[in-house]
Amino acid sequence: MKAMVIARTGRLEDARLELREVPTPVPSAGEILIKVSACGVCHTELDEIEGRTPPPRLPVIPGHQVVGRVVAVGPRQSANSGPESGMLAVGSRVGVAWIFSACGKCEYCRSGQENLCSEFKATGRDANGGYAEYMSVPEASAYLIPEVFTDAEAAPLLCAGAVGYRSLRLTGIKDDQSLGLTGFGASGHLVLKTVRHQHPKTRVYVFARSKEEQTFASELGAMWAGDTNDKAPELLDAIIDTTPVWGPVVAALAALKPGGRLVINAIRKEEADKQALLGLDYARHLWMEKEIKSVANVTRRDIGEFLTLAAQIPIKPEVQEYRLEDANQALLELEDRRIRGAKVLRISR
Ligand SMILES: [Zn+2]
Ligand SMILES: [Zn+2]
Repeated sequence: MKAMVIARTGRLEDARLELREVPTPVPSAGEILIKVSACGVCHTELDEIEGRTPPPRLPVIPGHQVVGRVVAVGPRQSANSGPESGMLAVGSRVGVAWIFSACGKCEYCRSGQENLCSEFKATGRDANGGYAEYMSVPEASAYLIPEVFTDAEAAPLLCAGAVGYRSLRLTGIKDDQSLGLTGFGASGHLVLKTVRHQHPKTRVYVFARSKEEQTFASELGAMWAGDTNDKAPELLDAIIDTTPVWGPVVAALAALKPGGRLVINAIRKEEADKQALLGLDYARHLWMEKEIKSVANVTRRDIGEFLTLAAQIPIKPEVQEYRLEDANQALLELEDRRIRGAKVLRISR
C-alpha cells in the first residue's frame, strides 16, 4: 500500500514525509483493518516531525484523525469481546483518534482518564496512523461515524473537535459567561460552533494573529475578534489557548477575570518565543486566584460524546482537501498558519 511516512525528525524543510510502498497491515487479535478514506492533518504531526514529541521508532506513518471502512477483523480475543462490547462489522464506517491504546488496568484507565495512562500509545506516533491506504487499530479505539458527516467532514472532529470539546469541558464555562479563544485554527473554529450551541448566551472573543482568522471567527458568530495582544471589551471567565507558542499564554492571563481559568490545549509548546514568559507579572497575570490547566488530548468518552453532539447540532467543519501525496504541502501551510478551518487528506473515495 501507499503511505506517507516520517523517516527522520528535524525541521520540516529537511524532514519531509516520504511517499513509500509498505506492506498492508494484518490485523492481530482484537484489531480491525480499515481502508482509509480521509485523514485529518494536525499540528501534532509537526510536533512529531520536529522532535517535540518524537515517535519512539522510525519510520512511522503519522495521522490520528482517520476515517474509513472496516475491511477485515483480526481473530476475536475472547468471550469478553462479545457483541455487548460493540463489535464492528466489516463494512462499518469508523473513525480513529489520537488514543490508540492504554493499559486498561491502572487507576487512570479504571476511572475513564486513559489519556493520563503511563502506557498510553498514540495513533500515528507510537503506532502507524492514517496517512496511508490502510491501517489496523484495536477495535476498542474505533468509533462509528454518524451518517450526517461525509468522510472528510468527520476527520477533523476526531482530534480538533474532540480535544476542543474536552478543552471546553475543562474550562467549566457556563451560559452567559465570557469565553476567549486564543488561536483560531481547526480546533478553535469547532469550539466556537460547539459553544454557540451548548451555551448560546456565552460571549465568545477570539484572539488570532491573521486578519483571515479574525474575519472567519466573526463570520461564525464571535462577538469580537482581534489580534493576540489586543484588549477584549471585557475581562473573561475562561480562555482556551490553541497556539503553539508562549506569548499568547501571557496575554491570555492578563485578559482573565479574577478567578478565571486558562486552559492550554497543546501537546507541546515551541521554544522559539519562550522568553515571553519573563514578562509574566505575578500581580497582573496570576494573582486573584487565576488558574492554568493543560489538556492531555482525549479520552474515549470525549470522542464518543463529541461525535454524538456534533451529529445532533450538526457541526460541519470547514475542510480543505489535499491528496495523500500532498501531505507535505498541507503541513507547510499549517506551519505558516495559512488556515481556514481544517486540512484533510483525501485518500480514497
Ligand atoms: Zn491532533
Ligand atoms: Zn492505564
